[in-house]
Amino acid sequence: MANSRFQYVRSFELADNLLPSTYLVVRVDGKGFHRFADAHGFAKPNDKTALDLMDRAAKRVMEEVPDVVVGFGESDEYSKIVTLIVSCFTSAYVFYWTQYMPKDRILQYPPIFDGRIVQYPSEKEVKDYFKWRAVDTHINNLYNTTFWALVLQGGQTTTQANETLSGTVSGDKNEILFSQFGINYSSLPEQFRRGSTVVRKEVLPENTINQSPMPEQSENDSSELVTPHAEDPRKASNPLFGHKQKKKPRPVVPFDGTNGEIVVLHVDMVKDDFWNERPWLLR
Ligand code: ATP
Ligand code: MG
Ligand code: MG
Repeated sequence: MANSRFQYVRSFELADNLLPSTYLVVRVDGKGFHRFADAHGFAKPNDKTALDLMDRAAKRVMEEVPDVVVGFGESDEYSKIVTLIVSCFTSAYVFYWTQYMPKDRILQYPPIFDGRIVQYPSEKEVKDYFKWRAVDTHINNLYNTTFWALVLQGGQTTTQANETLSGTVSGDKNEILFSQFGINYSSLPEQFRRGSTVVRKEVLPENTINQSPMPEQSENDSSELVTPHAEDPRKASNPLFGHKQKKKPRPVVPFDGTNGEIVVLHVDMVKDDFWNERPWLLR
């Protein structure tokens, strides 16, 4: 880079280091998506296609950034562990738009997402973070489902629906849904009720005991000369040991959640099962 008297502005680029040994959560949220949803005719309360597009954008981020091990989404927001790039999410959202939306739903203006990063010191806060978003998903979806049933099926204005629901608890909303509209809340799609969790499927290590053994090494395999895992590094170069020592099987590398097929689940993140079934995620 050429030096110039203008270069001093570089000194304004202050370090914004993150604390080491912490779990990083990045939350991405659509800016002004209330308007965006209206402008693009999103179905109320849940436009499935729009949610699927959000899920696809989140998958794209995980394809791009292996260090992101879990994503969680609801409505217009998505949370991820470890440096996610908001721009990747945004560009994927636009990129996949036509693939998900019906032909007559043309993008009216460029969507914007904000992003924030939060550092959590231990597993407890990370799990609680996802529990918090999952509870938020439930509360919002129950409210929105009842609100839009009152408006779309019950003929109430949005102001009236707001009044009907003011001061109600979740039992009341379930009751309104069931008795007035014949809707059994718990039978609604899990994607709406639980949100979306994006995670990689476990990849079993190649050389575990119950899998096929390592193929025999050929004599002139150059990797034979490289013994990165020899117990005594001097042996590798000591002619007394020759070049013919048996290659040690590579140590079994446990799955760390950063490679393999990315899947979108709709599970209850308030329970610990998700984490217990995937102990590698918070290792
Ligand atoms: P901000 O810029 O502060 O984030 P916002 O308008 O995006 O404001 P949020 O609180 O983030 O408001 O809420 C997102 C809104 O986007 C929801 O209230 C809903 O109206 C709309 N929305 C997002 N996704 C969908 C969807 N899949 N189906 C229907 N509506 C949706
Ligand atoms: Mg928003
Ligand atoms: Mg939001």
